[in-house]
Amino acid sequence: MIQKIDTVLLDKLPQDRTIVVLGAGESGTGAAYLAKQKCFNVFVSDMGQIAPKYLQKLKQWKIPFEQGQHNSKFILDNADLVIKSPGIPPTATLVQQLLEKGIPVIDELEFASYYTKATLIGITGSNGKTTTTRLLHHILQKAGYKAGLAGNVGYSLAEQVAKDDQDYYVIEMSSFQLDGIYSFRPNIAILLNITPDHLDRYEYKLENYIASKFQLVQQQTSEDLFIYNGEDQHIDLGFKKFFKAAQQHMNPVRLSQLEEHPLFLRVATADYSIAKDSLSLRGKHNWFNTACAIIAAKHLGVKDSVLNEALVDFENEAHRLEKVVEINGVTYINDSKATNVDATYYALDAMDSPVVWIVGGVDKGNDYSRLYDLVRQKVRAIICLGRDNSKILKGFEGIHEYILETSSIPEAIKVASLYAESGDKVLLSPACASFDLFKNYKDRGEQFKQLLLQQAQILKKGVTVQTDLNINLNPSAQEETDRLKP
Ligand code: ADP
Repeated sequence: MIQKIDTVLLDKLPQDRTIVVLGAGESGTGAAYLAKQKCFNVFVSDMGQIAPKYLQKLKQWKIPFEQGQHNSKFILDNADLVIKSPGIPPTATLVQQLLEKGIPVIDELEFASYYTKATLIGITGSNGKTTTTRLLHHILQKAGYKAGLAGNVGYSLAEQVAKDDQDYYVIEMSSFQLDGIYSFRPNIAILLNITPDHLDRYEYKLENYIASKFQLVQQQTSEDLFIYNGEDQHIDLGFKKFFKAAQQHMNPVRLSQLEEHPLFLRVATADYSIAKDSLSLRGKHNWFNTACAIIAAKHLGVKDSVLNEALVDFENEAHRLEKVVEINGVTYINDSKATNVDATYYALDAMDSPVVWIVGGVDKGNDYSRLYDLVRQKVRAIICLGRDNSKILKGFEGIHEYILETSSIPEAIKVASLYAESGDKVLLSPACASFDLFKNYKDRGEQFKQLLLQQAQILKKGVTVQTDLNINLNPSAQEETDRLKP
């Protein structure tokens, strides 16, 4: 699956050559801008309709483009190098034709890395990438470092390199992006975990997905740092198969995800005299993410006093164990970004009172048995929220006596509120993708939040709550974001 290309040749591509950018999203338009700045001939081609924001940028920068089609003949005849959006699968006909012709196809992050001398921190994993990337960036900024936030988190690295190059970049890297890097060398690499996800892009072979994650460290040397989860069986497997013998001297930092582990405790709390309760991120998984960020930050010379502050005042992105509101003594939590079983495992684990759990959507081949113990211990009722709930109904048969089916957010909230008692939590942590009933995980989380805030507002005014069951749903839309974030 990983194509072999001559990276030295790429580094030295003469500047009168043509670079074709496939896909005009955040990474594609940024790459086109950098390529133009470096005096290449640039052409952007997008099979779909380009979003107005990027259309405007391409026009402003006078970069030629097409949309709604790929002019394959022109591209195959003229491209010396192709920068491909991570969303386009390597099996796409045009990509295959380019590779057959020997035209290199790379990712925007690879291209951008040729033109910056900044310290690069690459963060990947099946879960926790955005949280850890944002946290480390927050720490570096607080420490006064000139640091950019880039990659899958939503900001183009290439555009930042072209416009206002930074001294440090904290880069979230999805496996689709890792598939397109060859000489990209992160000074610090963080591999959080590997759980089977998005295997459709990897010929349904877990090994291919693991190989993709290990692309992150293939160019590292003994001068670089590799921080990884030492208790992840798939990472263990990756070490055996994909970690080059020459890299063994790198002395990677093996971290434990178990709260009790002395190294973890020392790093995450004791060393920093912070009470665990005042850390802004909650739950074992987040303490692990925090520990990774701390080790990276300390390696870059950040002082303990800065860390002490940054770990307390960090604000995570929405939809990740986000406390929404308390109604009648019940706390409602939005964890809509939990689109696989592993993320939901840690969400349930982090709950310190009985939970009414809202779960469901598009099942990606989930094995729910991992959740059985937690469900027995903590869950008061299971509320299914999906078009087809059969897998969940079957999965928890005999494990829990209260399993109810709903098919909209208002219905799910209504049923959950009937089962929740004062002091309980209602947790939306679906363990599934959302495109059966919603546009994407954000849409799902927003609908949940908006309705709850509305209800809280009504209650505050002392009016009886009448839930609006006609909330706007969009069942046909594809969940683009979920699928692009492996
Ligand atoms: P990603 O960018 O990899 O999708 P996020 O930080 O957006 O990760 O978190 C996605 C989901 O995974 C959230 O529900 C979050 O609570 C959960 N999560 C975060 N960190 C971890 C971790 N280390 N292990 C398992 N689940 C995690």
